[in-house]
Amino acid sequence: MSISKLLLITGASSGFGRALAVEALAAGHRVVGTVRNAEAAAQLEALAPGRAFARLLDVTDVEAIAPVVDEVEATLGAIDVLVNNAGYGHEGVLEESPLDAMRKQFDVNVFGAVAMIQAVLPHMRARRAGHILNITSMGGFITMPGIAYYCGSKFALEGIGEVLGKEVAALGIRVTSVAPGSFRTDWAGRSMVRAPRTIADYDAVFDPIRQRRQDVSGKQLGDPQKASRAMLAAIDSDAPPAHLLLGSDALKLVREKLVALQDELTQWEALTVSTDG
Ligand code: NAP
Repeated sequence: MSISKLLLITGASSGFGRALAVEALAAGHRVVGTVRNAEAAAQLEALAPGRAFARLLDVTDVEAIAPVVDEVEATLGAIDVLVNNAGYGHEGVLEESPLDAMRKQFDVNVFGAVAMIQAVLPHMRARRAGHILNITSMGGFITMPGIAYYCGSKFALEGIGEVLGKEVAALGIRVTSVAPGSFRTDWAGRSMVRAPRTIADYDAVFDPIRQRRQDVSGKQLGDPQKASRAMLAAIDSDAPPAHLLLGSDALKLVREKLVALQDELTQWEALTVSTDG
């Protein structure tokens, strides 16, 4: 068994967050999970009384984040691992999706995660130790019609995490962006925000994608328990990766994206280099 650590996991009520809490507790770690209601808090703490702790937090309430983190550090001890997991998907064609929906998407998936990072960093820097996992998505590498705001938020978090990793490596802090493929969580079910359809021009490109996502919800390839064990393996590693894909679907699609990108770079290489000098 690995050395017992204290994990702070946002969004621990369902899906990856809850599965990671369960697996981390089974591996002997302690877990603080953030949730958004008292019922979810009681369910989380019941997993392992005395080793599982819940804190009420909506990550868009950025003023509340540092006080929660500081209180956890003061009462439960050093946060060894922050897992920025809280997030959701906005689904909707860009032209049909109000800007306010994009702000909300980024408030949760990007600003919330960065506010959590800013709150734990002073503690981790003081100890010259710590690991930050950001749950991004294969949608932080590959794209499809109808999830522009979601992909935008996950591309943003991938980029932010990669920069952060370079800033804090010398301070003993590791940063891993975990990019899952499709997994059986509540993501495409109760958690997804779906913009109403208004423009018939997009029916052909988007309706089949929306329908398929609804049809496969709950039947996706990926198992959140296995994802959680993979995350724990990364947490246990002395040299964790900056990017960790989860799932064969993610691996295939991201590899295809990289090949297509290489091909396009090559095809346009002469024009690209024509601007030098
Ligand atoms: P999920 O079962 O819907 O879980 C989402 C969690 O995030 C819930 O605990 C939810 O809390 C919490 N949350 C949502 N908005 C929040 C907010 N404003 N403040 C605090 N907590 C909030 O879905 P999931 O798949 O496990 O999602 C976890 C992460 O994985 C997300 O970042 C998602 O984008 C990412 N991801 C999922 C997949 C997939 O296929 N499932 C693939 C790639 C990436 P409530 O219970 O209170 O709503």
